[in-house]
Amino acid sequence: MEKKKNFSRKREAILEVLRSTKSHPTADWIYQQLKPSVPDLSLGTVYRNLNRFKEDGTIISVGVVDGQERYDADVTPHSHFICDTCGAVLDVNDEFVDPESDEEVSRILGVCVVSHQVVFHGLCGACLEKLKAEKGK
Ligand SMILES: [Zn+2]
Ligand SMILES: [Zn+2]
Repeated sequence: MEKKKNFSRKREAILEVLRSTKSHPTADWIYQQLKPSVPDLSLGTVYRNLNRFKEDGTIISVGVVDGQERYDADVTPHSHFICDTCGAVLDVNDEFVDPESDEEVSRILGVCVVSHQVVFHGLCGACLEKLKAEKGK
């Protein structure tokens, strides 16, 4: 029983860290945040729990950025912007994405679309500023 309690405590802590940030972190980042307060935590445990959360719909995966999967505790329909330079992931309100595209794609492909995720790519504000500063030199 004690072991199970410890397990769910870690589970809660992982979810809490993910919910406390809008940065769409990696498993490794979450692990680094928790390590000081949960010394017996392993990276494998973080991965295992994130996969489980993903399976039961508690969280979503944004996709792989620079070889690392990124996670999001915000499961409401929204899209993402990914900075190709620093790997920053920003939320994009779904109002920019045509709500009729699901039906359109369903019709064209003869499938049933239940959701979609649009990913915008480019340079984030910070990287843009940096680029401008470098050019201004
Ligand atoms: Zn950037
Ligand atoms: Zn998001």
